[in-house]
Amino acid sequence: MRTINHIIAGEEVVSSSGRTSPVYNPATGAVTAEVGLATVDEVDRAVAAAAAAFPAWGGTSIARRTAVMYRFRDLVDQRKEDMAALLTAEHGKVLSDSLGEVQRGIENIEYACGLAEHLKGSFSQEVSTDIDVFSIRQPLGVVAGITPFNFPAMVPMWMFPNAIAAGNTFILKPSEKDPSVNQLAAELLAEAGLPDGVFNIVQGDKVAVDRILEHPDIAAISFVGSTPIARYVYTTGTTAGKRVQALGGAKNHMVVLPDADIGLAADAAVSAGYGSAGERCMAISVVVAVGSAAEPLVAAIEERIPTVTVGDGADPDSQMGPLITGEHRDRVASFVEGAPGEGATVVVDGRRQSFEGDGYFLAPSLLDNVTPGMRCYDDEIFGPVLCVVRVDTYDEAVQMIADNPFGNGTAIFTRDGGAARRFQIDVDAGMVGINVPVPVPVGYYSFGGWGDSLFGNSHAYGPEGISFYTRAKVVTSRWPDPATSTIDLGFPQNV
Ligand code: NAD
Repeated sequence: MRTINHIIAGEEVVSSSGRTSPVYNPATGAVTAEVGLATVDEVDRAVAAAAAAFPAWGGTSIARRTAVMYRFRDLVDQRKEDMAALLTAEHGKVLSDSLGEVQRGIENIEYACGLAEHLKGSFSQEVSTDIDVFSIRQPLGVVAGITPFNFPAMVPMWMFPNAIAAGNTFILKPSEKDPSVNQLAAELLAEAGLPDGVFNIVQGDKVAVDRILEHPDIAAISFVGSTPIARYVYTTGTTAGKRVQALGGAKNHMVVLPDADIGLAADAAVSAGYGSAGERCMAISVVVAVGSAAEPLVAAIEERIPTVTVGDGADPDSQMGPLITGEHRDRVASFVEGAPGEGATVVVDGRRQSFEGDGYFLAPSLLDNVTPGMRCYDDEIFGPVLCVVRVDTYDEAVQMIADNPFGNGTAIFTRDGGAARRFQIDVDAGMVGINVPVPVPVGYYSFGGWGDSLFGNSHAYGPEGISFYTRAKVVTSRWPDPATSTIDLGFPQNV
């Protein structure tokens, strides 16, 4: 059995814990590898390697640091098909989706290539007589990233390219469910010329996470995952004095106004609801149909569902792959099971479609007449189940989104520019789409939700990512003539 090991100071390190976690091919149910889960000592060893690498890397010129990122960007581009194949084999998403994920990761590497521009400080000459002031941003030291299973390549790339280009050294604790793609990323970083110890990987579970949260030599932690763990990571990490950004779960509403093009809205709902089998934090999980939009919209979504081809993600004909584990598939199915008892209507029951073999497949389901308070509305399902809530007015739709504890992404479908503009101002969510159902910001904006979708003040990647991985210093400078020097105990004033 292939074992997936830590990478510490450029070396593969086999865990001595004796604890392992299986990696499955979700399309077949076969165990393809096992991950050796870290001990506290192994985390400490990775942190020591990163701390030892920091002085030299942090002191390396921006030109040399970004040159490594340029080479890394090209290597990832050359190997993106291999990365996508690894993703599909362990996550299950279809190959085109995996390629899209890697491409969005590349966008973040490209942003890191241009870091010189974003690290520029400001300079003010003669703020007071003979005094100049300037600002600089410096790296923090050792920083860590803890990432979820659903974007095993892209989410780490939200973090480490910017962190490393800014001069930090990095510890990645990837999801134990699909970690292989990051082993390839580590290989490509080394090939790009990154010195050993600047990028380290610790495979692990709660033991590794808890050590990262308390380790005195880790300055900052980026986390992406479910809300309960995000809250825990934020609270524990900040209590230990660290800078923490912790992105959590989601329940993304797509509002469809009566004037919307119903065919276009239905295409978007199916694509954004069932893409990646609904295992996206930016997936649409609730369609809020306003007034007369409801009847034709539900009919149009129902009509489209049978056209979605569900199968092995490695098969180019598949449009939707399996879920990550059998346990998760059964949990997702339980929301469909429980819906009629709570008063919802099961329009399409994905459980009816059977699949050969032992893969973790579940076909798309559509639930109508869902209301807040039902389990399928209140919980993050994270699977191919789309809920339709019917409301009478735009105001009810906006209020429902405000009342939901999550606030990651949202979208409105309408032909009315005024209504769309009002929505972008009114709505309580961090990322808004106007006739765009999955509004993941480009790499030069920042990604983050509101409410229980993000703990901390800083969004991920883009300008806020750079600010998260650096700290500011302001220098006030004067080169006086010693002959004119006097003692002055007054508070310095600018004159
Ligand atoms: P998860 O919270 O189970 O795991 C995330 C990370 O935390 C993993 O590395 C895991 O090993 C670790 N972890 C799990 N349990 C832990 C515990 N008890 N203590 C300490 N660490 C623990 O999330 P997941 O199932 O891998 O990913 C899916 C979730 O991530 C969904 O809720 C999804 O919405 C969310 N997500 C959010 C975003 C976003 O940007 N907001 C992006 C992607 C995924």
